[in-house]
Amino acid sequence: YVAKGRSVGVVGYDPRDDVNTIERLALLGDLRRALSNDELYLVYQPKISLVDGHLGSVEALLRWQHPERGLVPPDAFIPLAENTGLIGALTRHVLDTALAQGRAWLDAGVPLRIAVNTSARNLHDDEFDRTVRSLLVKHGVEPSMLILEVTESALMADPVRARQLLQRLAAQGISISIDDFGAGYTSIKQLRSLPIHELKVDRSFVQAMEQDPGEELIVRSVIELGRNLGLTTVAEGVETPEALVKLASFGCDTAQGYVLAKPMPATEFDRWRAQWRGLAAVTAST
Ligand code: C2E
Ligand code: MG
Ligand code: MG
Ligand code: MG
Repeated sequence: YVAKGRSVGVVGYDPRDDVNTIERLALLGDLRRALSNDELYLVYQPKISLVDGHLGSVEALLRWQHPERGLVPPDAFIPLAENTGLIGALTRHVLDTALAQGRAWLDAGVPLRIAVNTSARNLHDDEFDRTVRSLLVKHGVEPSMLILEVTESALMADPVRARQLLQRLAAQGISISIDDFGAGYTSIKQLRSLPIHELKVDRSFVQAMEQDPGEELIVRSVIELGRNLGLTTVAEGVETPEALVKLASFGCDTAQGYVLAKPMPATEFDRWRAQWRGLAAVTAST
């Protein structure tokens, strides 16, 4: 028996691969169970207007409280779900939960737009737009209240197919956001051909700028590109009040990051929202 893609003997074989594979399979089995066992939950992080401090939308981020391993970060299990068929069910679960929460906020008189992350596989699923529409109908949430975040790399996996799906989603009134922008290789031409509404500056650029003002050129350029294309610009991963002030001066529309709030479960988010007093309180120290 020769394992696929591996040569017999020593060359190319690393016993650690087996450990990783077993480990991954175990985690995958656990993840299937987690979906039906209520081990997955969402946390919400506010996206705040840099113009007036208004809280307009929240990003839903997935968390997995594993019974033995504790909190497993999404970077550890989303790729696993992506490489198997599980991501379809996972995204559906996230949308279902996030839209139920959005409905609850609407009922409480708090109209918050909800941003949900998607994966490459979702963009290659020709049924995805129908899935999204049926969940919007199920919860009585307008399509304009939903933002789908799509990473550059997910788009590039199959750009033609992804564009067609995004066009059908956008035609329904759903907003499309390009996540982690600048980390991939989307050309300006491709960007223009996509039905997108929002550009999120990759966290790595924002954080590089916070550490070294010489790095702010990239952030400024992405913001300018977004503005020139008529898109809403969002800076993610903002950790300092100084960066908030700078981003506002660059014309960035929206910010997200620990300096404003960490992602929180809904109840905690509601407490945070009740005491949110606007940007001045955050930037007062600068
Ligand atoms: P992302 O969509 O780019 O989300 C932003 C990540 O940055 C989140 O990490 C968030 O907790 C973190 N973050 C926010 N503000 C700050 C900050 O000021 N400093 C730092 N250092 N980090 C900050 P998280 O929650 O671990 O998620 C990581 C990635 O996993 C997400 O990146 C997204 O690509 C993926 N992900 C999370 N939830 C889902 C989901 O429901 N579906 C899919 N497909 N992917 C998801
Ligand atoms: Mg995101
Ligand atoms: Mg991001
Ligand atoms: Mg990311």
